[in-house]
Order: sequence, then structure tokens, then C-alpha cells
Amino acid sequence: MEREDKIVTGIFLGLGTNEGDRVENLKMALTLINEEVGDITALSGVYETDPWGFESSNRFLNMVANVTTRLVPAALLKKTQEIEKKLGRVRSQVRFSSRSMDVDILLFGNRVINQRKLTVPHPLIPERRFVLVPLCDLIPGRIHPVLKQTFSELLIQCRDTGNVSRTEISLELPGKRKG
Ligand code: AMP
Repeated sequence: MEREDKIVTGIFLGLGTNEGDRVENLKMALTLINEEVGDITALSGVYETDPWGFESSNRFLNMVANVTTRLVPAALLKKTQEIEKKLGRVRSQVRFSSRSMDVDILLFGNRVINQRKLTVPHPLIPERRFVLVPLCDLIPGRIHPVLKQTFSELLIQCRDTGNVSRTEISLELPGKRKG
């Protein structure tokens, strides 16, 4: 798989889950990201949020993870999709329908990527409170590479009225597996 010459920092992944054991899903996703993508350097709080764009009685847990990687963007997308699939598969032994984990590539450093399968910064960041609120835990003052405004400015302007409540759930950074 193609690799970057140097470790790339400033990658932010958005995680969301509204099926099954949501806390366990987040923990497993973080463990897999840490093993297969790169080091997780910071985590936002965990937020309980209204489904966005569809009706469901299952609320989401959402959070953002800051990671580093040697993977090029297309390879990172492949990995995050594999992780979504793996976590879906755990749950799908019981049910075969929707996914229990969604992983979005929100930012890849300051890069602007417009590939057929990958748009970065993720185009829906400014429309989603459930992304902006956790992102502002980590990088409120950073400038969006396309919109040229800080994430806290984008949050103030965001028209999304969906409820985003901070939970007491506290997740630890996963340790690297030895050996
Ligand atoms: P979703 O089902 O909402 O997770 O959307 C997945 C699709 O969005 C995939 O086919 C990806 O190729 C595409 N996509 C485009 N940009 C991104 C991004 N920044 N992060 C994750 N998926 C993306």
C-alpha cells in the first residue's frame, strides 16, 4: 500500500455509532485505528446527538480523534472503510442491516483533496454540529483550509439545530500492541 515519506500529523477522523453497544463500538474503532492507521494523539469528548438527515429513535454517539499516519489519503479511506466493515460484521451476526460505525476523514493536515471517492476537508463539516462541537474540543482556533475561517467561527455560524450533548463517557487513548 502506498505510503507517505513522513508521518503526517493533523488528521482528524469523525466517529459515529447508533447501533448496538455504542461505547464498545467506539472503543473497538479506536483500537483498530491505533493498530492499523497510526497513533491517536488526542480525543474529543463523547457526545450524544440526534440523527442527522434521517429519522431514528436511536441517538448517536459521536466523537473526533486526532491521528497521525503514514498512509496516503486513498489508503487511509480504504482502511477506515475496512474498520467500518469489521465493526459492522461483529454486529451483523445478529442483524444484517445498517452499520454500527461510521468513520469520516474530516481533515488530512491542511490538504485539500478532490478525488472521485474522497473529498477533504469533509464537505459537510460546516453543516454538522455533531462534527463541529467535538472538533472544537481539539482545534477551535485552527483555520479550515478551504473556508478560511476557524472551526469555532464555523460552529457559531452553523444552522444545524440538532441536539449535541456532552456525555460523561471518558475513553482512554488505546496503547500500542507490543511485539
Ligand atoms: P458514508 O456512507 O456517509 O460514510 O459515505 C461514504 C462514501 O463517502 C464513500 O463512498 C467515500 O468514498 C465517500 N467519501 C468522500 N469523501 C469522504 C471523506 N472525507 N471521508 C469519508 N468518506 C468520504
